[in-house]
Amino acid sequence: MKHLCVFCGSSPGASVAYETAAKTLAVTLVDHNIGLVYGGASVGIMGTLADAVLLRGGQVLGVIPQTLVDLEVAHDGLTELKVVDNMHERKAVMADAADGFVALPGGLGTLEELFEVLTWSQLGFHQKPSGLLNVEGYYDGLLTFLEYAVSEQFVSPVQLGALHRDDDPSRLLAAMFDLSGRR
Ligand code: AMP
Repeated sequence: MKHLCVFCGSSPGASVAYETAAKTLAVTLVDHNIGLVYGGASVGIMGTLADAVLLRGGQVLGVIPQTLVDLEVAHDGLTELKVVDNMHERKAVMADAADGFVALPGGLGTLEELFEVLTWSQLGFHQKPSGLLNVEGYYDGLLTFLEYAVSEQFVSPVQLGALHRDDDPSRLLAAMFDLSGRR
């Protein structure tokens, strides 16, 4: 079974489209027998995503630091919840458990997590694919900036090109993984 690590907001966001996209991604994961790895919270887009996977009988591993168990209200219905000592351990456990990474809309935590796996990839610490689920153009401004960073020769075009992006979860996952025969 493949596992996808999803980074996403601990807030629901301003538009219902973000939660709808999380639910559509959940259906895609379960349809393709891909397990979810995420930050273990029950709040925001994180909670919506985990609930939607569980509702359809999918597998969810949550990884949360003890200090955030109360703050982010750790999800108590997951297939497995790992409570770890700190943020660094959380990210390392999530990265190890996953075959690839997707960011849904989210805030600073989501961005930090995405950029960490991108920088680990650029340093050759892993060869796992990464993708942006660009719901309603949420990440357009970020992508514009990253193109500018490429044009200013601070980011390699190869590295930015390796970041898959789509507004459709099925297309995004198909670009990242060989999904033939997985349904
Ligand atoms: P946010 O996108 O800010 O709503 O946060 C999404 C998730 O990222 C939450 O589970 C946060 O706990 C987590 N997060 C926030 N800051 C960091 C960080 N520096 N490193 C790793 N995860 C973080």
